Amino acid sequence: MTNQSILQIFKDCGAIMQGHFLLTSGRHSDTYMQCAKLFEDPKVGELLCSQLLKQIKHLNVNMVASPAMGGIIMGYEIAKQLGIKNIFCERVDNVMTLKRGFEVAKDTNILVVEDVVTTGGSIKEVITLLKNLGANVVGCCSIVDRSNGGVEFEVPYFALLSTKVESFLQQDCPMCKTGESQAYKMGSRK
Ligand code: ZN
Repeated sequence: MTNQSILQIFKDCGAIMQGHFLLTSGRHSDTYMQCAKLFEDPKVGELLCSQLLKQIKHLNVNMVASPAMGGIIMGYEIAKQLGIKNIFCERVDNVMTLKRGFEVAKDTNILVVEDVVTTGGSIKEVITLLKNLGANVVGCCSIVDRSNGGVEFEVPYFALLSTKVESFLQQDCPMCKTGESQAYKMGSRK
């Protein structure tokens, strides 16, 4: 599947919108990404995960782990396609934790899954948690790499789409300069 056809799927399901947006950073952009939309239609999520898994099939994985919230649905889908178990981690008092009776046996080969990587912080916290539990983290992946290859992990990282959304200070915003539109504020940090 080409980058072009992946981008078209993102547009078709509303995960990428074109317009004039005010980001939570205060900067303006002509592109807005809402990656939760990728899994609104389970068939789209299934397709994107199967495409991503083509990059990962050489890894020997026994279990999938993801950080809440963003990675949970994707982690489930990846685990389903691999036919292996799926767990998720969540923050308690800001510390990534394994709750809900989830356990990791020593030396389990784990793939860490997240929908979007921006700074990679959540994945890094999950890797540290799992390693401290004695697991063997063999890789990590996301549908979208918003750092466009800028984030480095201590394990191999795979992404279906690498991109960097360009943004501008208001005074430098080319859309503001035309005066044809005002920046529209969207709801969520992703
Ligand atoms: Zn603007």
